[in-house]
Amino acid sequence: MMELNATHDAMRRSWLASANAPGTDFPIQNLPLGMFTLGTDATSMPPRPGVAIGAHVVDLCGLDDAGLLSGDAARAVRAVLPNDCGLNMMMALGNGVASALRAQLSDLLREGGPQGLRERAQTLLHAQADVHMHLPCRIDNYTDFLTSHAHTARHGRFKGLADPVPPVFHSLPVAYHGRASSIRVSGTGVRRPNGQWKAADGSIVFGAVEAMDFELELAAVIGSGTALAEPIALDQAADHIFGYVLLNDWSAKSVQWWEQMLGPFLGKSFMSSISPWIVTAEALAPFARPAPARRPEAPPLLPYLESHQDQAFGGMNITLESWLSTAKMRTAGKGPTRLVSTPLSNLSWTFGQMLAHHTSNGCNLCTGDLLGSGTVSGESEDERACLTEITSAGREPLRLPDGDERYWLKDGDEVTLKARAGSPGRIPIGFGACAGEVLPALPYPLPKG
Ligand code: MN
Repeated sequence: MMELNATHDAMRRSWLASANAPGTDFPIQNLPLGMFTLGTDATSMPPRPGVAIGAHVVDLCGLDDAGLLSGDAARAVRAVLPNDCGLNMMMALGNGVASALRAQLSDLLREGGPQGLRERAQTLLHAQADVHMHLPCRIDNYTDFLTSHAHTARHGRFKGLADPVPPVFHSLPVAYHGRASSIRVSGTGVRRPNGQWKAADGSIVFGAVEAMDFELELAAVIGSGTALAEPIALDQAADHIFGYVLLNDWSAKSVQWWEQMLGPFLGKSFMSSISPWIVTAEALAPFARPAPARRPEAPPLLPYLESHQDQAFGGMNITLESWLSTAKMRTAGKGPTRLVSTPLSNLSWTFGQMLAHHTSNGCNLCTGDLLGSGTVSGESEDERACLTEITSAGREPLRLPDGDERYWLKDGDEVTLKARAGSPGRIPIGFGACAGEVLPALPYPLPKG
C-alpha cells in the first residue's frame, strides 16, 4: 500500500480559489497530469505537459523554465520530449520521480507555501477553457479486461447460455488484446462504423451499424515498463501503474456478437475514448479499499493472484457515471441525463491482479500501455454500465426525460463518462470528463465510378 503524505492532507488548501470549490474534480489533493496546447487550434504548438488544479492548468515546462522545480521534479518535466506528444518519458522514470513532482507542485500551489508560482500565475496558469487537451501519452498497447460479474452474467443470459458466467471468469481476469491505434482523447467524435452482422431474419448483412453502444470503464496507465519473460509479482504490480483514466470502449454490438469466435475484433477496434488527465496512483492512495469478496462459487485464488496487501488494499473507492445528451436535448436547451452510477467495487478483480496475470506468462508491458477494467456493471438497475444491459440487448427501450427512446445510440448522441474517488475524512477527487459524440457513418462501399 502506498503511504500517505502531506500532499494528501485534507486540510491543505490552495491559494487558487477554484481549487477549493466544493465539487471540483481537481482540488490540490488531486494534481492529475496531461498534455495541452493553448487555444482551440490543436496544431498551434507542440503539446506540453500540464497539471490540472481547480479550473486551471499549470504549464510545467514554464514552471521549470522559471526555476521553480528542482531535483527529481525538474528531471520529470525535462524528460518529456518536445514533439513526442506524451508523458511517456516522465512516466518511465517510475512513481518515485512522479511523487517528487507531486510534492513540489502541491507545495507551490498550497496556501502558505512558497510564492514563486503565485507571483508568475499570469504566465504559468491557463484557464482550462482556454486550452486544448491531447492524449496524455503515446499508447503502444491496449488490453481490455472483463471483470464485472453482473456484466458477464447479463451478456451470457442475452446469448441464451445455460451457464451465463463461464467458470474461467472466477479463476483469472479474462481479457483480449485491443487496438491502440484508434484510441482518441475526450472530445473526439466517434464515427459510426460500417460492419457485417447477422440480422433478425437470419440474413448476413453489411452496412452502418445500428447497435452502437458505449461501455463505462476505468483504465490503468503503465508507468515503468516490464521486461520480456519477467513476470511481475502481485505485490510489485503497483510499482508499474502510473495512474488511471476513464475509458469508453465504444462497441458495435451486433458486429461483435457475429464475429466473436476468437474474441472481439471490428466490433471494438473502430475507436476507444479516454479522458485527458491521468489521475496518479499516488493521488488515489487515500481511497484504497479491500479487494472484492470472492463469490461463493469461486474456487480459492491461486497463489500468484493472492496477497494480503492486495486483499486488504487492492480496491479503490471510486464511483463512475455515464451521462447522455441527445441532439434534440441540446437543441431544446436541456442538460444531459444520467444513465449509470456504479462503484468500482463491482469488479471481481483488482488492477494489481490484472497486471500480475497479464505478465504471468512473461508478456512485457510498455510505458503508456492501457489496461481497461471492462464494463463496470453491478446488479442494480442504476449499475448497468452499457446500453446493451439497459435495453436488454435492444429489446426494451430506454426512456429519456423528453419522451424519446433509445435501443442503441443514435447519431448526435453525446456520451460523457465521469468518476470521483471519495472516502470518509478525505477530499474527493475526480477524473474530469471522457466525452464523445456519435457521428453519422460514411457511405461504404463507395459508389462506383
Ligand atoms: Mn469493454
